[in-house]
Amino acid sequence: MTTTTNPFGELGLSRALTDAVARQQYPQPYPIQQQAIPAILAGKDVLGIAKTGSGKTASFVLPILQQFLNRKIASRPEVRVLVLVPTRELAGQVAEVFLTFSERLPKPPKTVAVFGGVSINPQMIALRDAEILVATPGRLLDLLASNATDLLSVETLVLDEADKMLELGFAEEMDNVLAQVSRHRQTILFSATLGDAIQTIRENLLKNPVKIEIAEPEENLDLITQRAYRVEAERKGPLLRYLIKSGEMKQVLVFVSSTRTADNLVVKLNKNGIQAAAIHSGKTQGARTDALARFKAGRLTVLVATDLIARGIDIQLLPYVINFELPRSPKDYVHRIGRTGRADATGDAISLITPDDEHHFKIIQKKMGRRVEILESEAINLQGY
Ligand code: AMP
Repeated sequence: MTTTTNPFGELGLSRALTDAVARQQYPQPYPIQQQAIPAILAGKDVLGIAKTGSGKTASFVLPILQQFLNRKIASRPEVRVLVLVPTRELAGQVAEVFLTFSERLPKPPKTVAVFGGVSINPQMIALRDAEILVATPGRLLDLLASNATDLLSVETLVLDEADKMLELGFAEEMDNVLAQVSRHRQTILFSATLGDAIQTIRENLLKNPVKIEIAEPEENLDLITQRAYRVEAERKGPLLRYLIKSGEMKQVLVFVSSTRTADNLVVKLNKNGIQAAAIHSGKTQGARTDALARFKAGRLTVLVATDLIARGIDIQLLPYVINFELPRSPKDYVHRIGRTGRADATGDAISLITPDDEHHFKIIQKKMGRRVEILESEAINLQGY
């Protein structure tokens, strides 16, 4: 008889957690998990250069939960873990991963997510017995100011998507939060990029960190079929609807560059019998959460998104991404199409290219290091779309 060893168990996770991982059907640890889990369990500070999609969330959630299993139960619940995140969406997603992996633990630590744009009172109540706190900086400061909690017992601090937090202008809020966190702590910093600002944070906050760098998963692009259609600006809307209907697409993430285009597109799609909703910064938190949930559950065919909001979205097995408008940076293009072809599934990425876009699209292809076939759409009869 052969004995099977669990690859997550070998990283130092105990049975209760490897069982939870098995329920999620993760066959193998991703590279970031391979490196981060033992380092975090050893109490080291960690600097992770990795993007959404790398498996970074589980790479800190699992060892943090293991630390809870190893720890003596506190006499009263205190916030032991603080995860700072840039957006409401990411706060919700990270908290969900904590809940998923902890729900069947013998004494699951209470995880609470706090973020702005929703009423503060329920968050104040939830915080009373919180042990793991996932927060956006602004709302956390409000809660600290009203003494809803304190951060004196924080043993583990995670800064997730730190570069995004800086990009969104949270530098000062972050500093204010950090000034209130106990100094005796383990610090884990994740960022998609390693710019000067992140280097400064690293120098100020991390002690001899284990540095883990996960290269952009190039091979992921191999799983994505990319194509583009040359189209006149006024035929873009009908072409989009044609592609969705004739391709019988069931779950399509459509990218646009402005909230106005997003809203206009949704109106037209719905008028044409295609279930669609938009998520962008102009929508309330409730509307955004609701649209994302309906899209994930397959009750919405099209989700129209702008880049900023889409960053934090994690949808597994997304079959189609359509660039209704091209992003400005080639990086964002790769990030957008990387929404499909995740976790070894294949996906289709389609871009609509107007004459004005052609030069820019050439640059995107050059930077990405791949050529994308451009199809003519002139001959497609868009009558009725
Ligand atoms: P993240 O980078 O944390 O946003 O994770 C990206 C996606 O990968 C999530 O949908 C996870 O559920 C999934 N995932 C994380 N780790 C693994 C793994 N070891 N095997 C398969 N899927 C995973």
